[in-house]
Amino acid sequence: MCICVNCHYMSRCKIYQAIEDLHLVKTNPSPNILDLQFDPRKVQINVRVSTEEEQINTDWDVIQCSSFVTDIGKFTSSIQK
Ligand code: SF4
Repeated sequence: MCICVNCHYMSRCKIYQAIEDLHLVKTNPSPNILDLQFDPRKVQINVRVSTEEEQINTDWDVIQCSSFVTDIGKFTSSIQK
């Protein structure tokens, strides 16, 4: 699971928005990545590639980030606004 969903910076983080775009998941409202100000440090992203029948699937998760600040439920609260 992507650690960003419980990070204080999720709603203004450039890397999180890029991951969200790859997942085709949108918070409400979804910001334009060019408007985001927060540039996190030392981000490690895990990419899983799998095949199902003849389709290739990818999944992207931030698994480590030096800028992470715990805010449990940040993703859930962002989609309820
Ligand atoms: S964990 Fe890092 S990459 Fe993810 S939202 Fe927080 S600051 Fe951004």
